[in-house]
Amino acid sequence: MLKCLLCGATIEKRLSLKQLLLPGRIPQPKICIKCQSRLVLRKSTHPCPGCGRKLLASETICWECQQWQHQYGWLLANQSLYAYNDMMREYMKRYKFQGDYGLRLAFQAEFNQFLKEFDYDVLVPIPIAPHTWQTRGFNQTTALLTLPYTTALTTIANNKQKQSSKTRQERLKTPQIFRLTQPQKIIHQRVLLVDDVYTTGRTLYHAAVLCHQAGCLEVKSATLVS
Ligand SMILES: [Zn+2]
Ligand SMILES: [Zn+2]
Repeated sequence: MLKCLLCGATIEKRLSLKQLLLPGRIPQPKICIKCQSRLVLRKSTHPCPGCGRKLLASETICWECQQWQHQYGWLLANQSLYAYNDMMREYMKRYKFQGDYGLRLAFQAEFNQFLKEFDYDVLVPIPIAPHTWQTRGFNQTTALLTLPYTTALTTIANNKQKQSSKTRQERLKTPQIFRLTQPQKIIHQRVLLVDDVYTTGRTLYHAAVLCHQAGCLEVKSATLVS
């Protein structure tokens, strides 16, 4: 009996004609219909072309992305699969902060399908810091991936002050937190950075700056939620 990974309810197997005709092609659902109905697809919410988060009806780009554009002269064009709502906040809490490794499977098929829609040469996940490895035991982003990826980035020692405790001005000035381990693997390539959540953008912009400096043809990013 299949149980919903999120709420534990029994998932009823109602096979469609397509599933019957193409056995094995469509993955078994990992979450129940009720939990699925609480997901909001980001592309359905008038997303910002810079960060992928929801814009006001009157906006064409959000204020924060205007600041990134001003600081770097380019934008990441981040796209996310799901909106960060109560459902995804609860999911992230259990998956990432309580370290429930099994929950990587909840959206794995959908997320990799989403990533396949991008034009890129190399998929580069955002690494986690050594102290996070020690407490969580896994990288929540690479655990989501079934597509091949390249470990081109590693974290460097940085102050551990939380992003959320800084003002925006302080965050903008945060020194680089990554270095490239394999620049030869990304030079002249179209890089798609991948992370679990787009929050302030600070982490992804640090990674993107290094990719631009290394001579990547294009750098974009994708996250599970934003
Ligand atoms: Zn459920
Ligand atoms: Zn934006």
